[in-house]
Amino acid sequence: MNDFSPADWRAASDTVTGNRALDLEEPLIFELGDVGRSGVDFDGDATEMLETLPRRTAPVDLPGLSEPECVRHYTRLSRQNYAIDLGLFPLGSCTMKHNPRLNEKVARMPGFAAVHPLQPQSTVTGALTVIADLADWLVRLTGMSAVAMSPKAGAHGELCGLMAIHAALDARGEAATRRVILVPESAHGTNPATAAFAGFDVAAIPAGADGRVDLPALLARLGPDVAGVMITNPNTCGLFERDMKAIADAVHAAGGYVYCDGANFNAIVGRVRPGDLGVDAMHINLHKTFSTPHGGGGPGAGPVVLSAALAPFAPLPHVVRDGGGCVGLVEHAVDRPEAFGRMCAFHGQMGMFTRALAFILTHGADGLARVAEDAVLNANYLLARLRDVLDAPFAHTGPCMHEALFSDAGFAEGFSTIDLAKGLIDEGFHPMTVYFPLVVHGAMLVEPTETEGKAALDQFVDAMRDLAQRAKAGDPALRSAPHHAPRRRVDETLAARKPRLVFEAPVQ
Ligand SMILES: *Cc1c(COP(=O)(O)O)cnc(C)c1O
Repeated sequence: MNDFSPADWRAASDTVTGNRALDLEEPLIFELGDVGRSGVDFDGDATEMLETLPRRTAPVDLPGLSEPECVRHYTRLSRQNYAIDLGLFPLGSCTMKHNPRLNEKVARMPGFAAVHPLQPQSTVTGALTVIADLADWLVRLTGMSAVAMSPKAGAHGELCGLMAIHAALDARGEAATRRVILVPESAHGTNPATAAFAGFDVAAIPAGADGRVDLPALLARLGPDVAGVMITNPNTCGLFERDMKAIADAVHAAGGYVYCDGANFNAIVGRVRPGDLGVDAMHINLHKTFSTPHGGGGPGAGPVVLSAALAPFAPLPHVVRDGGGCVGLVEHAVDRPEAFGRMCAFHGQMGMFTRALAFILTHGADGLARVAEDAVLNANYLLARLRDVLDAPFAHTGPCMHEALFSDAGFAEGFSTIDLAKGLIDEGFHPMTVYFPLVVHGAMLVEPTETEGKAALDQFVDAMRDLAQRAKAGDPALRSAPHHAPRRRVDETLAARKPRLVFEAPVQ
């Protein structure tokens, strides 16, 4: 069969089913389903009981699938997804690190997994002790006074922190006059969104040529209308804000508060205590720094550590410890009248708390410092091995922290970051964060995390070097990547702006 032509090979790659070996096509569940089918077994009593109930007359319009059809549908879809359990996940700012299986085992212990928030307190002292122990660790690691455990994600934590700032200003009688939150241009989109949602006005602070907050510009904007600043450290360019203490001192002197976006705490945990830098409030994304699973809308947790100035305003409830170490609860406003209210009905994400505490206890204080050191080392290894083929806009200012930032400078005419990112899909990697932060043209933000070994990093570097060279040479095949994914290049703008979320049954 040596005279098999390229055209024959193409024909041979087309299949009747649309499947390509392990790459399986899958229709929508509505296209699969049929009203006459069901995967549910009712026992006899239930069927009799159902017959006594009122019956709906119109069809329920849900897809009817047998159990194996249903299992296969979701298993097939799950195989079209990328996961940290499949390979390196370089999504900058998201800290996609390995989720240790020991943590999963602990979180599944019935005493933690099956607790109910309305159970009598005497039956959940173990779970409350986990919350109290984790709270102690978070306060000690950050050098702060208190922590609000209930916020359920980083962005929710931002809201909690700004509400505490608002409550503190209110107590000083300045809530009506101090209405502005200063946010650097490089900030994550949640920062200005949270400030606006919390009722503040947002003023942008420019970045200097070194990728950090422009200190003179920030100092010039301080005044009696400023409620505070929201600063990310290390920032979203993967750089340490060296002026953090000077910024905090100036903001405090001007009567404002300092919110730190702690999503990048992974890079400094065990090495730097934000409290020593003058921070008043900071959320900690347990799902980033402390490795609890996230992505795909999975649960997160965003406890907020607070300085002595803001601690009295922390939301309810609080898990407290008495002198003898026994845990108790402060749940009602009468016991803590300064508390600004609640962030959610109960205590927060129990499953995330158990995983994060397991991560902390298995690492210990020295191991947590190693987490930060290795995360920074891995990012700098990528920066060093890629900066001769990719523009690294801030590499001249020194080493990066836990993520390496590149730009599309030097790509061939008509080629951009998106082409390289789509090429990474063909190489079997999830793309890095693209076009963020906005302060860099065609930004590519790569965060390897500390849990990747050298072999994985080297394989990623090989792929990135090849793709960078193709983008610079203007390889047309890269413009139409991905070629090996279940779908070719999709119109992402259209998908984001005009998503089709409702299934319309074809007219019979
Ligand atoms: C992830 C992230 C957030 C938001 O955290 P969520 O847990 O996704 O709500 C905010 N700021 C930065 C810098 C982040 O990386």
